[in-house]
Amino acid sequence: MMLTNLAGILRGAGLKVVEVPGWQTRGHGQMAGVRGVLWHHTATAASAAGDYPSQNIVTNGRSDLPGPLANLGLGRSGTWYVIAAGLAYHAGTGSHPAVGTNNGNNYLIGIEAEHPGTPGHPWPAVQLDSYRRGTAALLKAFGLGSDRCIGHKEWAPNRKIDPYGLDMNVERRCVAEYMNKGFKAPGGIEEMAFNDSFTDWAGNKQTVKSWMDNVDKRIAQLYHIFLAPGSEPSRIPGDKNRTNLRDAVMDSTAWTAISYGMIQELHRKVDELETGGVDVDAIASRVIERLGPQIADAVADKLAERLAQ
Ligand SMILES: [Zn+2]
Repeated sequence: MMLTNLAGILRGAGLKVVEVPGWQTRGHGQMAGVRGVLWHHTATAASAAGDYPSQNIVTNGRSDLPGPLANLGLGRSGTWYVIAAGLAYHAGTGSHPAVGTNNGNNYLIGIEAEHPGTPGHPWPAVQLDSYRRGTAALLKAFGLGSDRCIGHKEWAPNRKIDPYGLDMNVERRCVAEYMNKGFKAPGGIEEMAFNDSFTDWAGNKQTVKSWMDNVDKRIAQLYHIFLAPGSEPSRIPGDKNRTNLRDAVMDSTAWTAISYGMIQELHRKVDELETGGVDVDAIASRVIERLGPQIADAVADKLAERLAQ
């Protein structure tokens, strides 16, 4: 059989799909059936540019092994590359209880996901999520359970390490979850990125969507406090008008300036009083003119005594 429904199945799950020209007829003959999906990594260097730099080798093969080398490719962005509807050389010798022995190419849909297969290169969340969703869609379409999501390292444990860094038991649980709850995302990859969860600064589990909703709410609150008309009580004593915080700050600044001016004026008056306002000698000399020196001295002493109190 030729698996000419591969592109349709993946698109139906809301995934991004690139059809590599000629895929419908590409293959080393026909598939014998579908008993599962086999996960691989390409082992192409991480420095190779593009979303799916392995496309050429997976489609056309290499000097020692003619292509196709997988039925499907999976790019770093989570985009699927449909390469061959027919049999591809990807499984090699190996076995699985539900599939058989040394018959992987005949019965397993091979997926080569772009990944160097070396430490220090965590799988991009968007790619891994797409790996799970696409696999869930394929297994569902072929009437198989999540147990048929198989790693190459499980098929051939003595030869293979792919897919690198992934615990296939965990992956099967994730695939099962999509098979149970439904994997069709109306928004495709973007929708998946929205639903990826992370821990925020406060230690709360968030999705990108819930986080954006919170930011939205916070901006609305800040707008209300700082800019919305009449949202806050006036900070000016005796002012009954409601204002917003921005106005309140501006009013407070004006109020402070007025108060400062009043204090300056008070200082000026006190200085005047100290330097010229009460000059005991000057008063005494004026009193002398009117009353004569002896009485004037007595009055001046009395005045000085009063002021000293
Ligand atoms: Zn492999």
